Amino acid sequence: MSEFDAIFIGAGQAGPFLAARMASAGRKVALVERKYLGGTCVNAGCMPTKTLVASARAAHVARSASNYGVLIAGEVGIDMKIVHGRAEKVTLDARRGLETWFDGLDSMTVIYAQGRFVEPNTIVANGERLVAPQIFINVGARPSIPDYPGLADVPYLTSTSIIQLAELPRHLVVIGGSYIGLEFAQMYRRFGAQVTIVERGPYLASREDEDISDAIADIVRAEGITVQTQATGLSFRKAADDIEVTTNEGTITASHVLVATGRRPNTDDLGLETAGVKTDAKGFIIVDDSLSTNIPGIWALGDCNGHGAFTHTSYNDFEIVAANLLDGADRKLSDRIPAYALYIDPPLGRVGLTERQARASGRSILVSTRPMARIGRAVEKGETQGLMKIVADAETQQILGAAFLGIEGDEAIHGIIDAMNARTPYPTLQWSVPIHPTVSEIVPTLIADLRAVS
Ligand SMILES: Cc1cc2nc3c(=O)[nH]c(=O)nc-3n(C[C@H](O)[C@H](O)[C@H](O)COP(=O)(O)OP(=O)(O)OC[C@H]3O[C@@H](n4cnc5c(N)ncnc54)[C@H](O)[C@@H]3O)c2cc1C
Repeated sequence: MSEFDAIFIGAGQAGPFLAARMASAGRKVALVERKYLGGTCVNAGCMPTKTLVASARAAHVARSASNYGVLIAGEVGIDMKIVHGRAEKVTLDARRGLETWFDGLDSMTVIYAQGRFVEPNTIVANGERLVAPQIFINVGARPSIPDYPGLADVPYLTSTSIIQLAELPRHLVVIGGSYIGLEFAQMYRRFGAQVTIVERGPYLASREDEDISDAIADIVRAEGITVQTQATGLSFRKAADDIEVTTNEGTITASHVLVATGRRPNTDDLGLETAGVKTDAKGFIIVDDSLSTNIPGIWALGDCNGHGAFTHTSYNDFEIVAANLLDGADRKLSDRIPAYALYIDPPLGRVGLTERQARASGRSILVSTRPMARIGRAVEKGETQGLMKIVADAETQQILGAAFLGIEGDEAIHGIIDAMNARTPYPTLQWSVPIHPTVSEIVPTLIADLRAVS
């Protein structure tokens, strides 16, 4: 049996940073990881996908070059080996960076093993019992696979396995038209594959407002991606080298199928019931405002607690716990204003409530929208797809949310994220003097155009 001050299960985007802080302060910590340091973000999520998105964008820019008077002789070719090599290097460099960092921390022990609770203060890893008064769970999530007839019998891809795919699919059928599915769909279309998105809901990215979802559909359709919404009756069948995907609209012959229908927490093989840690119906670990579970001395951070599905939300969980446990602060999960991006090109930057959510909250709200086609920076760059939208509370004058779908949307949204976190009343933004020409310079105009909606 080995005793520690703290044990971390899973080396995602929260636990390792807390482990490193504790180890730097001389505490004896164990970090138990069953696969790779850095978790999903580094190895199968943000880093490889955004590297692939960058290659896809380079192909798109090269193909559109003649619109800008830049002439490229011949067809634009894609070398998938180089494309994947770039992504792999980015991942390996980041993972090695973490390995080197943790190797240098004397009181941190990294154990490569599956961790499993056998008592509330004890886990087993590699057959050894590890005991600590504080245990932090950071086990993340994995693709959730729906129970469609025939799916289990065909060689489908997930967001994890598609990153390793060496060949270019002839026809990629993406099941699920939400964030992960959309990114891969556009990326592979730009690499040269025929792509079809099959979505069971009425809209792509259906958590967004309808005008944003419609603009997303326009963007992907403009690149030749086929979109089928309200798909029902899905079934799958292997047919020679292909996979037949049947929906209510007929049968699609795919060379590859990507299943991107959401993610489920890695909490089913952790022995949580032995420790008495409660989960909700979907398996997410139930935590309070300080990320503590129902068992004193056990915390759950990152995607596995269901309060975020992003690297920055997982990292923020680390910040909250570190501030409260190590710095005497009283930071709360409920203070977090949700923000995220969808990395199609152009990207969607999002913060706070959608218009639909704001309306449903019963507040009297103000809304302002502007198409990117009326934004100078977008016109100059020749990339006018999308729109910008801000939603505010008429009474409190607080900004409730924003969606910037268009070039630099993932960056420009930060002006609104900062204003919301600073609780700046919206009229203040009308009098800032932004830099011309930028996408952000439209924010004062959007604010001036806020109008009551019924
Ligand atoms: C394709 C894709 C693209 C994404 N793009 C973005 C993006 O652009 N921006 C963004 O913010 N987020 C993105 N995400 C989400 C992001 O990757 C995750 O939200 C992020 O990694 C935070 O996860 P985490 O810290 O909860 O755990 P994870 O990063 O998932 O890590 C959990 C770790 O725990 C380990 N583990 C699990 N169970 C055990 C066990 N019992 N014992 C030992 N180890 C265990 C796993 O092996 C893993 O290493 C993307 C995700 C995917 C799949």
